[in-house]
Amino acid sequence: MSTYNVSISTTAQKKPKPSQDQVPFGTVFTDHMFMMDYEPEQGWHDPRIVPYAPITLDPAAMIFHYGQTVFEGLKAYRADDGRILLFRPEKNFQRLNQSSDRLSIPPVDEERVLDHLMKLLDIEKDWVPSTEGTSLYIRPFIISTEPNLAVGPSRTYTFMIILSPVGSYFAGGIHPVTIHVEEQFTRATKGGTGMAKTAGNYSSGYQAQANAKKEGNADVLWLDGVEKKYIEEVGSMNIFFKINGEIITPALTGSILKGITRMSIIELLKSWDMPVTERKISIEEVYRAFADGTIEEVFGTGTAAIISPVGELNWQGRKITINNREIGEISQRLYDTITGIQRGKLEDPFGWVV
Ligand code: PMP
Repeated sequence: MSTYNVSISTTAQKKPKPSQDQVPFGTVFTDHMFMMDYEPEQGWHDPRIVPYAPITLDPAAMIFHYGQTVFEGLKAYRADDGRILLFRPEKNFQRLNQSSDRLSIPPVDEERVLDHLMKLLDIEKDWVPSTEGTSLYIRPFIISTEPNLAVGPSRTYTFMIILSPVGSYFAGGIHPVTIHVEEQFTRATKGGTGMAKTAGNYSSGYQAQANAKKEGNADVLWLDGVEKKYIEEVGSMNIFFKINGEIITPALTGSILKGITRMSIIELLKSWDMPVTERKISIEEVYRAFADGTIEEVFGTGTAAIISPVGELNWQGRKITINNREIGEISQRLYDTITGIQRGKLEDPFGWVV
């Protein structure tokens, strides 16, 4: 199956597999992981699958000091006939390289790392759960490893892939959430790192998220960093609106992550003759649409939940309810179609599934 060489050392001490529905996200890991290293003279080298274990790093390793790191997130799904399916995995490795470019990290060979991932999944195939809504989360990432406190790009890196079984994100499918429109903190700004999947974009959102949760919100809606006017993302998801029949998502202007779910939804809606307008959309426009009664649906999109309907928005102390806090027609249809394609239950006319 594999066309690229990887050294493999397996463990005899297999861990017990957790019960499929009761695993908190990202807390259980499989028996093996993939690693390879980068040095300027050798490039990426020494690809290997090894028993899952802690790694040793020099305290001066640059990852600890200047955050030069990137990551990805995708899932392996178990089809009813037992096959293991990935959803557009090549897009994740493309995006990994785009993120790396922004963070001055050398690119990986996308085809080769996908092949390495397949090999790892082959070894860990018994870890892909099969009950409704479950999957095996895949976390590829790169860290800068050179021991050096001088500010500047590391000379050495390690690329790894770890795997973690996950239960259903929302038991029983999807449900609308309450979202705080964030005005104090900014996730990303033009010219920054918003379009890269890099650590600092996430930890810098924790304060805003904690404040929002204290007031009963599930997450925050991020506005642009300059005027605090235009909508960017919701939590760690892209966002879509249906207003007066028009489906709108913020255009990718550099501060928004190019979601693979977002991309797939745009292609899917187009195939249904429901084109998506990618443009700037202000929070004022959304509130006006509420006042006019023209706001129909709002939903976040991402690998974790696929579709997460927004039932309520809180902006400057003003609350609006969307679609009576019910799941909208498009939200449900998109969720059913994408999860159906991902799990091999529906035909895959786009050739998305591997
Ligand atoms: N925005 C951010 C900030 C994210 O972290 C994610 C999750 N990767 C997304 C959007 C959605 O991207 P995707 O559809 O590729 O999961």
